[in-house]
Amino acid sequence: AELPADPDLTNEIRQVKNTLFSYVNPTKPSNPQLIHASEEVAELVGISKDEIQSEDFLNTFSGKKIYPETMPYAMCYAGHQFGNWAGQLGDGRAINLTEVENNNEFFTLQLKGAGKTPYSRTADGLAVLRSSVREYLCAEAMYNLGVPTTRSLSLILSGDQVLRDILYNGNPAYEKGAIVCRVAPSFIRFGSFEMLTSRNELKNLKQFVEFTIKHYFPEIAGEPKEQYLQFFQKVADTTREMVLHWQRVGFVHGVMNTDNMSIHGITIDYGPYGWLENYDPDWTPNTTDSQNRRYRFGNQPQVAQWNLFQLANALYPLINEAAPLEKILDSFIIDFEKDYKTMFLSKLGIFTSSESDDKIMQGLEEILQLSETDMTIFFRNLSKIKKEDSVEQAFEKIEYAFYLPEEIKEKILDAWQKWLSVYLKRLNAETLSDEERALKMNLINPKYVLRNYMAQLAIDAADKEDYSLIDELFQLLKNPYDEQPESEKWFAKRPDWARTKVGCSM
Ligand code: AMP
Ligand code: MG
Ligand code: MG
Repeated sequence: AELPADPDLTNEIRQVKNTLFSYVNPTKPSNPQLIHASEEVAELVGISKDEIQSEDFLNTFSGKKIYPETMPYAMCYAGHQFGNWAGQLGDGRAINLTEVENNNEFFTLQLKGAGKTPYSRTADGLAVLRSSVREYLCAEAMYNLGVPTTRSLSLILSGDQVLRDILYNGNPAYEKGAIVCRVAPSFIRFGSFEMLTSRNELKNLKQFVEFTIKHYFPEIAGEPKEQYLQFFQKVADTTREMVLHWQRVGFVHGVMNTDNMSIHGITIDYGPYGWLENYDPDWTPNTTDSQNRRYRFGNQPQVAQWNLFQLANALYPLINEAAPLEKILDSFIIDFEKDYKTMFLSKLGIFTSSESDDKIMQGLEEILQLSETDMTIFFRNLSKIKKEDSVEQAFEKIEYAFYLPEEIKEKILDAWQKWLSVYLKRLNAETLSDEERALKMNLINPKYVLRNYMAQLAIDAADKEDYSLIDELFQLLKNPYDEQPESEKWFAKRPDWARTKVGCSM
């Protein structure tokens, strides 16, 4: 009620001006069925284990019934997509149910795939089971990896069919519809501010920035201008930390448009994301970006900075001074590179500093790309190397990470041996014992990530009404840094059939 709402209460698709959001009710699903829910997230927002199994839960988080005294709404925002200004976008298939307070924390509960809103443009407002499973599992996997992210509360089948594709023979290919309830402090995006500035709605801009600071950044104080700058600094800092985590675990977002950037520095909007399998900074899971590769793994820090530049532009009319904004933007990459080095070396078990570190780091990045080397397996197994190992012994410990071991032996064994011998020397200069180092490394290098093929297997089973794999992966990924001997099969390279598989966006 503090912010201007759209007076038009229909779902008609339109440009929504002078408002931040539109009240809109979810579309009623015809036969909702709970596939999975997170007890931990439920507890976080104040829902008990028993309540998860209730009719109320199913009805509320499928959009079948509106919870008493709440007024669901879709937010209006704009954004830059793939570097181009896209104008108004908004929540085309997301509906915020309400905000809840639990243990002095605020959470917004949002349904994704619950039907049309004024922002649905040419699409249907729905989500298919496939993309919903991917979002549901990945957000929780990321959380458990220690990566800032939205959380997943529930995954519910709608009971309705969704049309996503027309087959080559002209027949429509229907898929099962699903609804995910996701949770975040708020779903405010960089694009929320860009929208107001692009329309020159400066009064709303000021009101919205002040609302955002008051509600979500209460620690910020001082003169108004000072507050806006602190806000921008905070968004830059949390965004930097988030992307650093992405680079650490090999996560590629795939659609870092400014409408998919949260002001809380949390990973949001799991579409065509993917995990780096063979270490390749040029890789992107997004097939629509395969030409420019704007959102490739190695470009994520630069894109984050570019996106922050757009946010700076949006905030500029309130600040009217470019220098302090530019200063924050400039230090973004400088700070990122500093943190990246520390992070990357810690993945190698190097916790002290030495002049040779840059060379070790660059040497490894080069050699990792010379052949297909599985990122997760490589770094995880690196902790098995001991100071006393010979180069041959060390090589045996990482060998499993190579997709083409024969090729390695024929072509670049020499290069690996050289790098390993420098690395072994460097390890011997570390003060930690082998055991202590391995323990620390294993908290930085996950053993289990949600590889694309794993999500795909869970989706294929779910399509046949077998939800056991969703639960198995959900449980596995709760402890991604632990050895889980009974789940060793998930510590494996991507199978051949999944080699060219990419993520999906719809
Ligand atoms: P994305 O790139 O997935 O973040 O989506 C970009 C824009 O398209 C956002 O405004 C979304 O709400 C909207 N959108 C994506 N999928 C759908 C859909 N199935 N129905 C309506 N709007 C959608
Ligand atoms: Mg989006
Ligand atoms: Mg999306």
